[in-house]
Amino acid sequence: MKLRPDCTKLDKKFGWSAQGYLLPCCWCDLKSTFDGKQGALSELVKEHLHVDKVNSIDEVLDTPEWKNFHKVITNDKITNETPEVCIRHCGQGMRSIRVKEND
Ligand code: SF4
Repeated sequence: MKLRPDCTKLDKKFGWSAQGYLLPCCWCDLKSTFDGKQGALSELVKEHLHVDKVNSIDEVLDTPEWKNFHKVITNDKITNETPEVCIRHCGQGMRSIRVKEND
């Protein structure tokens, strides 16, 4: 399986978490993202990427964390860095549904 990431499409909008972080899409605003359980996605909610610590969206997107996230979701293979939420919503052959987390 590989991902077909919706967030790399030009018309896909970013997401924001209530905690003040830019996210690649609204599906990523999960407790597990902030608990460090979503691989490369969880790296995007480090303290230095908080909206209070940056000057622009471009500054956020230019960080190693966001560049690595892009690399992970456009990789030909699923790795241990691939966020489970991305597999669920954008995995090849997967149906995009919102599922309540139990964690
Ligand atoms: S679920 Fe992951 S791959 Fe899909 S649009 Fe959101 S961030 Fe991108």
